[in-house]
Amino acid sequence: MELYSSYISRLIGELSVLPGIGNKSAQRLAFHIINMPKDKVENLAGAMIEARNNIRYCKCCYTLTDSEICPVCADEKRDHTQIMVVENTRDMTAYEKTGKYEGVYHVLHGAINPSLGIGPGDIRLPDLIKRLQSVDAREVIIATNSSIEGETTAMYISKLIKPTGIKVTRIASGVPVGGELENIDEITLSRALDARVEL
Ligand code: ZN
Repeated sequence: MELYSSYISRLIGELSVLPGIGNKSAQRLAFHIINMPKDKVENLAGAMIEARNNIRYCKCCYTLTDSEICPVCADEKRDHTQIMVVENTRDMTAYEKTGKYEGVYHVLHGAINPSLGIGPGDIRLPDLIKRLQSVDAREVIIATNSSIEGETTAMYISKLIKPTGIKVTRIASGVPVGGELENIDEITLSRALDARVEL
């Protein structure tokens, strides 16, 4: 016997696959949604579908964007010889919010994690190496998280790039160990950038 209407059960099932949403939260959200005005629910569902269908990877830095080239890469006033490597678009947004960084980015979409079987080829790392061969880069700033995966990735990138003669730096500590970049305040982030060290 269905505990709820089959529609509610399905909604709970769909919501509970989201990260951080357990069965209880999924139930709470499902009942909230069915009590929302119809047009609000349509807006929510429409935003999800539109985002999924229309967002793509920037051809240059691989951040998620609406256009072929993201606004940062398309901006001629930015310093295109300084490339900051981040794990995801959220981290890039965190650095953009500081308003202190004038270079461009490279978004890896993950970090090396041997225990999960994620190797260098599973993130946008080969794309970074290819990019560095075709652009005139003077500095690569590694701003991966200070988790074990982030540090492993930083070391790997450093070893790969250093022989090319391009300056490789790592954002300073002050970013707490295991800290997710996106949760760190803007002042700490810009300090970590200013105090970056050469690897
Ligand atoms: Zn871009």
